[in-house]
Amino acid sequence: MRLPAADSLWKFNSRRKRNSITLSSNSSKKSQQLEGQNAPKQFNVNRRNFLAGTGALGVTAALAPAAQAQAWNSSAGSLAGSSFGPGRGNGGGDNNGGADMPLKFNGDGKFKIVQFNDTQDDHLTDRRTIEFMGKVLDQEKPDFALINGDVISSGPKTTEQAFQAVNNVVLPMESRKIPWAITFGNHDEDSMEDGTQADEIALLNFVRKYKYNLNVADDPIHGESNVSLLVQGNANPNPAFAIWLLDSGNYIGEELAGQETKEIPGYDYIHSDQIQWYRDTSRGYEERYGKKIPGLMYFHIPTYEHRDMWFGGPYNNDLIKHGEAKKRHGIEGVKNEDVYVGAFNPGIYSAVRERGDVLGIYCGHDHINTFNGNYFGVELGYCPGTGFGPYGLKDGTWSMHTLRGARVFELDEADERVYKSTRLVFAKELGLDMNPKKQPLEKPADLPEYVSFK
Ligand SMILES: [Zn+2]
Repeated sequence: MRLPAADSLWKFNSRRKRNSITLSSNSSKKSQQLEGQNAPKQFNVNRRNFLAGTGALGVTAALAPAAQAQAWNSSAGSLAGSSFGPGRGNGGGDNNGGADMPLKFNGDGKFKIVQFNDTQDDHLTDRRTIEFMGKVLDQEKPDFALINGDVISSGPKTTEQAFQAVNNVVLPMESRKIPWAITFGNHDEDSMEDGTQADEIALLNFVRKYKYNLNVADDPIHGESNVSLLVQGNANPNPAFAIWLLDSGNYIGEELAGQETKEIPGYDYIHSDQIQWYRDTSRGYEERYGKKIPGLMYFHIPTYEHRDMWFGGPYNNDLIKHGEAKKRHGIEGVKNEDVYVGAFNPGIYSAVRERGDVLGIYCGHDHINTFNGNYFGVELGYCPGTGFGPYGLKDGTWSMHTLRGARVFELDEADERVYKSTRLVFAKELGLDMNPKKQPLEKPADLPEYVSFK
């Protein structure tokens, strides 16, 4: 079947991200300058169109509605006695030192986290996104799962559709009774430009209605998805691990302090009060429990140090230096596009390095980068894009979905560092259909009975 021209469909990819596909000099300053020249025009015209990563291939395949949601609704009653429910959680900037631990290591001292990223679709999510998430969860049986930003796309036209878009991709966790949370990416509020009321506060209030959601209420700190989730030890009532979720923001304006921003990245950044919250909460844990609590941190937009690690330093941009860096930092995985950082480097990496409790920072946002490594004591890495809706590798070809993936983290309470290892799981390994043609749901999945739009 003839596919539509990729150029007309993949605005984000062709306009912003296509300039920098290889790891050679294309990823260097030159391409960043190119990107800078292209970016502001798009921002001026329409921020959402410029950054929209979704692109329906114009095919409306008739597919069965998500049977999963039906099954889920019929079994929802069994959750009535669950200890989970809105209002719990232990982070959100209240600095309570983790009095309330929503998660716990298993009887064997193990704990597993699954990271999904960039599910990024409208209310008719590509059915394979949901199928893939379900297969990962069934195979890995994690104790906690997250969608690390760009949960939905700019596609929804009504507030209900935005909530349905979210519902489609959180049901795989909720229906399996797996505790979960989301962070917000740059795209999650994009549908507001089409008149939806789905800002991040509305989305946060919506996800908090789910029984297994662990997001906490909004607070005065910048961003809507900052939370620290403590994982209680199996043998010990104290926390053995901390999961940090931060909101890396959306976009900066076209001007700051009266100056055009067109030559710098258009994305927002982690603000200083968020870093202060991390430092204060981390110190609070140490005071309360008499030791630093090892942890992992997740947010959507990668750090400047993700790029620096790949090239072995901020002044490098070539393959030779990358080869040296690969050995030095133990880099694994691929980089198929630039590291699309925020407007400024706010110092979250250095804050984490100084505190010494967070063992790794994992991001997404760049769907076709998969790499990770150890950058001077802190792991930095990616989860590639999970969703089949937005751009992928060589869009419109059979390569397009080959990097759709999830990242798994294995923890062991008996290990000194607790965090043992991470690995990727790719959709191509789990028998998903790699056809580049979009396969949208016929209709959105039903909400669980206890979740409402209002
Ligand atoms: Zn993003």
